[in-house]
Amino acid sequence: MAGEGHAIGIDLGTTYSCVAVWEYDHVEIIVNDQGNRTTPSYVAFSDAEQMAGDMAFNQVMRNPTNSIYDAKRLIGRKFSDTSVQTDLKLWPFKVIEGPADKPMIVVSHKAQEKQFAAEDISSIMLGKMREVAEAYLGSPVRNAVITVPANFNDSQRQATKSAGITAGLNVLRIINEPTAAAIAYGIDKKAGWYSKRTVMIFDLGGGTLDVSLLTIGDGVFEVKATAGDTHLGGEDFDGKMVNYCVQEFKRKHGLDVSKNFKALRRLRNACEKAKRRLSSAMTTEFEIECLAQGTDFYITITRAKFEQLNIDFFKKCMVPVKKCLKDANMDISSVQDVVLAGGSSRIPKVQQLLQDVFQGKELCRGLNPDEAIAYGAAVQAAVLSGKGDEKLRDIRLLDVTPLSLGVEIGDNCMKVVIPRNSRVPITKNTTNRTLYDYQTSARFPIFEGESEDTSNNNFLGDFTLLGIPEAPKGEIKFDVCFRIDENGILNVSAKDMSTGKERGITINGRMQKNLRRI
Ligand code: ADP
Ligand code: MG
Repeated sequence: MAGEGHAIGIDLGTTYSCVAVWEYDHVEIIVNDQGNRTTPSYVAFSDAEQMAGDMAFNQVMRNPTNSIYDAKRLIGRKFSDTSVQTDLKLWPFKVIEGPADKPMIVVSHKAQEKQFAAEDISSIMLGKMREVAEAYLGSPVRNAVITVPANFNDSQRQATKSAGITAGLNVLRIINEPTAAAIAYGIDKKAGWYSKRTVMIFDLGGGTLDVSLLTIGDGVFEVKATAGDTHLGGEDFDGKMVNYCVQEFKRKHGLDVSKNFKALRRLRNACEKAKRRLSSAMTTEFEIECLAQGTDFYITITRAKFEQLNIDFFKKCMVPVKKCLKDANMDISSVQDVVLAGGSSRIPKVQQLLQDVFQGKELCRGLNPDEAIAYGAAVQAAVLSGKGDEKLRDIRLLDVTPLSLGVEIGDNCMKVVIPRNSRVPITKNTTNRTLYDYQTSARFPIFEGESEDTSNNNFLGDFTLLGIPEAPKGEIKFDVCFRIDENGILNVSAKDMSTGKERGITINGRMQKNLRRI
């Protein structure tokens, strides 16, 4: 199946998404129906239709409660999650607690109340990106590689994958965003490709900051450490500018628009555009007609003012940079390249602070920060589907398990089933026996780590087999099966060989950040 048709790479961003394809001998970033190379990650519902992308973004002002964005902040999370609780206070759309603590988005669609899970919204967005690709390629597209932040856990990855499947895609692989950016960076660096380099990817987007340290060499991409801030990005910078404008409007005209949704939305759109201009210009201005009560709003903002408003945020961006170096046990001198990704990495002050951390080192600005991740995903899609040509021949993609995985037997005894650095996907079986006379149930605690004593390892989850026939210890055998799929998702099951009864679990919440890609 993977061999059929084109294989695309999709960067499903919090604020913008991007789709790319490997064609002839290069990556093509695909332009959408509006002529844009990135598409707002917005989905909206109205009495007549369902929309995604620019069309959804452009009607937000008229239809705020049914226009959904930031679905990536919800995906694979629980309603009770503190980050969900903080976010939902700021969203104009409604999020309620669904079954099993799952957040559900409530909208009115075709005059009916409807509920959507975050993966449903992501799935509509992925469907949109698929359509964009199909319109460009002129043929149906099924195969795709989708990117996720390196720190996404198992359930966030699973939810992203199922969103892809619902969108009718054959998800070739879920890959880490920094790995994708590193591929985009590495592919142009023919000279340095074969000597091992340590690279920092600094990805500052609309809602999040992700910092990763990787080594690249001989086609091997190894993530050494990742750090980040899940609530720091362009939207926060826009917010500071909006607040400033609200104050200025009040000071000049005595009118308070701080509770006026429509005025705030118009200000936000204008500020976002102004912010972009301030990355190249020193000063910018904009005018909004009839902001409130027939009064126009006009403002001039300098880059210095923008920086002053956001300096605390900008400084905060450097915290994960230092943490990442510390976690990888590296100092700045061992980092050869600092690579910028994400739209907000264009902000000159951010670049300057980053450069200061690296004591004046030149930053690598060669990548298009909006497109690098989709670019890398498209390369991987081509390799995985066998569409890559000569140029991609040397790239081998392989994941390995960063830590040994095993099951506890007896008193804190770790029985390793999959040793660390095993290639994935992998399936391994082991036989366990009952430990006590006449036991009727058996618990299977799953751990990751290198110690023989499970109390020094990480507990991942457990499950229990019931209804075991009574017998002296050691007589009943269990077939325990560990399976890691190509996306790094672990499944464990155990079968009572005397009755054929089987139970298992998919491990949720396992951090994937140390996956090594070859
Ligand atoms: P995400 O992956 O989180 O969706 P992106 O990497 O696409 O985000 O970046 C989007 C963010 O980048 C937005 O907040 C946008 O305003 C900001 N951005 C884009 N271009 C510029 C620019 N020239 N200067 C400053 N910010 C920019
Ligand atoms: Mg991004």
